Amino acid sequence: MVTVLITGSDTGVGKTLVVGSLARFLHASGKSVQIVKVLETGRPTISDAEQAAKIANLSGLSQFITLESFPEPLAPISAAAAAGRPIDFDALVARVNQLQTTDWRLLEGAGGIATQVAADGRDWADFGAALDVDAAIIVVPDRLGAVNQGRLAYAQAVRSGLRAGIWLNESVPVTVAVAASNRMGLEFAGVPLWAEQGHDAVEPRNPLEVVSVLGMPAVTDPIDSSNGVANDLERRCGESLEERQRRGLLRTVRVSRRGNGELNLADNDYLGLARDPAVASAVAEAAETYGTSASASALITGWGELHEALLGRLCTWHGFPTGLIWTSGFAANSAVLGVLPRKGDLVLADRLIHASMIAGILRSGARLRRFEHLNLDQLEGLLAKDSSGTGQTFVVTESVFSMDGDIPDLKRLARLKAQYGFCLVLDEAHALGWYGPEGAGMARKAGIEVAVDILIGTFGKALASGGAYTLFRSNKVRDYLVNEAGEFIYSTALPPTSVAAAMAAIEQVRILSAEQASWHKVSREFRSLLREQNWEVPAGDSPIVPVRLDSAGAAVALATWLNERGILVSAVRPPTVPEGTSRLRLSLKREFGSDQAERVLGAMNSWRERT
Ligand code: PLP
Repeated sequence: MVTVLITGSDTGVGKTLVVGSLARFLHASGKSVQIVKVLETGRPTISDAEQAAKIANLSGLSQFITLESFPEPLAPISAAAAAGRPIDFDALVARVNQLQTTDWRLLEGAGGIATQVAADGRDWADFGAALDVDAAIIVVPDRLGAVNQGRLAYAQAVRSGLRAGIWLNESVPVTVAVAASNRMGLEFAGVPLWAEQGHDAVEPRNPLEVVSVLGMPAVTDPIDSSNGVANDLERRCGESLEERQRRGLLRTVRVSRRGNGELNLADNDYLGLARDPAVASAVAEAAETYGTSASASALITGWGELHEALLGRLCTWHGFPTGLIWTSGFAANSAVLGVLPRKGDLVLADRLIHASMIAGILRSGARLRRFEHLNLDQLEGLLAKDSSGTGQTFVVTESVFSMDGDIPDLKRLARLKAQYGFCLVLDEAHALGWYGPEGAGMARKAGIEVAVDILIGTFGKALASGGAYTLFRSNKVRDYLVNEAGEFIYSTALPPTSVAAAMAAIEQVRILSAEQASWHKVSREFRSLLREQNWEVPAGDSPIVPVRLDSAGAAVALATWLNERGILVSAVRPPTVPEGTSRLRLSLKREFGSDQAERVLGAMNSWRERT
């Protein structure tokens, strides 16, 4: 059983809300929860334990218990004295210990952590220590003064040997500047910040981390404690996660629930084809004919006639003779760039290329030099300097950058290639569908496809499926990968259903390509609108609209604000983007219009006015 004491820096800071929020999350994760209000003063119409259970929306199976209640609305020992029933600290501890056990026991004190609960001066921190609780959560209102309150309360907890952390509760709306300074202040003071609860929210922003930072197996089973290696692993992982959390960079997986009226500007389904009926029926037909899985590697029986047909279609679409299909863009990039360049080669890469390409280059053994984002002058300088090198030179870039939505000068790249003779690797993941004849991307739009040696495309964005492809100028390059790339050899091939979805989506993309100019116009106009309202947004017409913000905290706060208003967007922070360039990433859809633009802008402006 996990026992947590929920106390606070003061009375009226939201302990009951926190107990309710935590119970709600645990309960939803299938855990039994017992809420214990150790003692209560005054005559509330509804007890705190009951109130917390209500917030948690607990069913009758979980328990909520109040151990002591005194009618006078006074500090516990005064209220107890007024009732003629002095608090027996040790008896109270014993009563808690006698309660029926559950997966999680949440104990709520009365008042703040230093509130006395025994005539001899013992307080809630001592109470937690006497019970040997696994952790103590100190609820602190997220407002000016939170750092002072947090430090004092934390010191009190530590004095009693408790493992404690702060739960900031935004009981009244707070400005972004104050919120950010609270987090920074606690960090400087070395006070662990375990959770943050937004104004009017029913759950903390990070329920999973809260539970894991408490060091408890909330959702998964504990690692076998007899296994020292596993425990060391758990400790190492835990420390690194805590560090990430302290820096505000912890990543989590959340269940994404799609509601009515929600505006999704977070995913990459730019043309809305992931829900297209023609694509869905192609998937159903493929499942019927070929089954739902490739069931083997491409080298065994996983490469079927659909794979072959799709590859043929892709080659025609882009103007290439040959290629391969992979299970993800990450696998494709890391294989191509991990296997083709070798020791002695040089890879010149735009500073902002996708992590999958960097992962490949780093394992290839080739020398990696990065040039400033889109800076082809610098690339040319590097090419000129290295023209005497003996190995092969690769130049690697994206045609539409995934986090910035901007585009390199592809015509100039083709000219540089003609002059310096390198191998050009172009990732078209975010250009497909949105640009080019028949939606085939930027290389064809710029008319430089013959200069591209290796083209990468992914099916998981506008192409309504999953998986990826790479196209080559030579069958020898393809065959080399078939023989050397573990991602291709030792992995089950892309399911026929995904292949069919991609094939059908390409057909829709081709039909829709006549509308491209209007999507580009909407993108340009939306960017202008944002800039007119003093948001920092670059010009352009791609579907990816980055809105630069002052800090990672501001990006997360604005994204949360919008998400709470039914506008799904993602905050992108380091290390996904370079330090100091945190942003909101708005990804437009072909159906995005002026009504939606105004809705987004209105919500963004109202967030700014509030800060
Ligand atoms: N290349 C780029 C430019 C990307 O943005 C992504 C994003 O996910 C990938 C490759 C990886 O593709 P996948 O999601 O299919 O692994």
